[in-house]
Amino acid sequence: MAQHIWDRPAQYIGGRYRDGKSADTFDVLDPSTGRTVVTGPLASTEDVDDAVTAAAGALPDWAGATPAHRSEVMTRWARELETIADQLATVESAQAGKPIKLTTEFDVPGSIDNVTFFAGAARNLEGKASGEYSGDHTSSIRREPIGVVGSIAPWNYPLQMAAWKILPAVAAGNTIVLKPAEITPLTSLLFAEAATRAGIPDGVINVITGKGTTAGSALVTHRNVSMVSFTGSTPVGHSIAAAAAGKRLHLELGGKAPFVVFDDADLEAAIQGAVAASLINTGQDCTAATRAYVQRPLFDRFVDGVAAVMDTVRLGPTSDPATDQGPLVSRRQQEHVAGFVDRARAGGATIVRGGTIPGGDLADGFYYEPTLVVGAAQDSEIVQQEIFGPVLVVLPFDHDDEGIALANDTPFGLAASAWTRDLYRAQRATRDIAAGCVWVNDHIPIISEMPHGGYKQSGYGKDMSTYSLDEYTNIKHVMSDITGVARKDWHRTIFGDR
Ligand code: NAD
Repeated sequence: MAQHIWDRPAQYIGGRYRDGKSADTFDVLDPSTGRTVVTGPLASTEDVDDAVTAAAGALPDWAGATPAHRSEVMTRWARELETIADQLATVESAQAGKPIKLTTEFDVPGSIDNVTFFAGAARNLEGKASGEYSGDHTSSIRREPIGVVGSIAPWNYPLQMAAWKILPAVAAGNTIVLKPAEITPLTSLLFAEAATRAGIPDGVINVITGKGTTAGSALVTHRNVSMVSFTGSTPVGHSIAAAAAGKRLHLELGGKAPFVVFDDADLEAAIQGAVAASLINTGQDCTAATRAYVQRPLFDRFVDGVAAVMDTVRLGPTSDPATDQGPLVSRRQQEHVAGFVDRARAGGATIVRGGTIPGGDLADGFYYEPTLVVGAAQDSEIVQQEIFGPVLVVLPFDHDDEGIALANDTPFGLAASAWTRDLYRAQRATRDIAAGCVWVNDHIPIISEMPHGGYKQSGYGKDMSTYSLDEYTNIKHVMSDITGVARKDWHRTIFGDR
């Protein structure tokens, strides 16, 4: 077990931990207690430069390695991660406030499965068949790495976000510098360290533990970074898109997922699904169900059912296997969530459940009660903006088209679900809802083989799946003359018919 992650986390550059060149430090707090669990050095812009230099130095050999070699070491990496799975789950839980059963059953196995998937995908880059499309040339496709990738990740799923950023990049032959969120860097460091033990060459994967406005900004504007891959909020994504103008960009941004319940739905399944999908990760999930639109005949029973199931949700310390919902990640996030609910209440919405910060044993942590809101207007901020907390707003609709229109009526388009037993309704909903993922009769599951990414203000580009390899590769067309003649047929356009 790498005990040092608790003693003194540092920058991971060139295959080893380094203190960094700044005297500034960051604190990782345990959101269950509010207490500092570890303090580490913040990356300076010099550290960013060192990390990019390490990544650039490792690029020629890694880009030139055979797909089979990249696949082999990535397969070993998955096995290394299995040996530290318990540690990853414990650290992830402690730094991000996740219930231990969530990290044990979702974050860690999901991330290891991602590694295994991309180990295989490394050998499966695709392109159009070579051929004589002009008649006079053989055309072929090369799919080449882009170069050094600078990645910025958020705090809500630190390990999975590190996996989603690093894996397609390195599978395709790029090298990478990842900046995790400054409040949750620990599992990204362990992830990179395990890669080194597995035989991934030094410098291919580097992790810097810095702030967004300093290290993050230096990374996305660095002259030797060819691509910027960002997951985080929409406003920061927009500022990064402007700062990184001219580089390849991949943006995974905010969400405000609708949950549309038609009047023929299995009501019990919709109720269970709405509670699970709105409270997972304490609602700090970009695809979490945030707005339930329920066709009027089911509305009251849906609200009563959700309230009853919310009453059974157990809040508690993240290390307790019985805890269903942990704290929010930070005091700041707790205040952010409480602000939305307080303003909705003041604006006339009814808070059916929750809407409070619990006291007693939980008072020192960053907890917030599971919260159910009705009576909010479609154009109110609690319906339109990302809250990122355990808050579900329920609104009624009458006609199918109205339900779909309301679902589409926010700036976001990351994920959505439709609940119905009617095949035709389900097909229309999956066609008409503008989102990167639409579930039918479920909401939240993800798999390595299928893409994740947004429409509208939720960003562009795909994580996971072989689609993500498109983001991290350049497509080169090679066109070779096969006639051997000096005066080509197409020269007529220059020389006329002489
Ligand atoms: P955030 O945008 O505040 O920060 C994300 C990252 O950007 C952090 O590492 C931060 O340090 C860095 N950063 C901040 N300012 C920067 C700057 N000027 N230059 C460079 N880097 C900068 O987001 P957050 O609060 O950490 O995470 C929550 C957000 O992430 C939510 O909006 C959520 O929807 C989104 N998210 C999206 C997806 C997705 O797949 N679409 C997945 C997870 C989270």
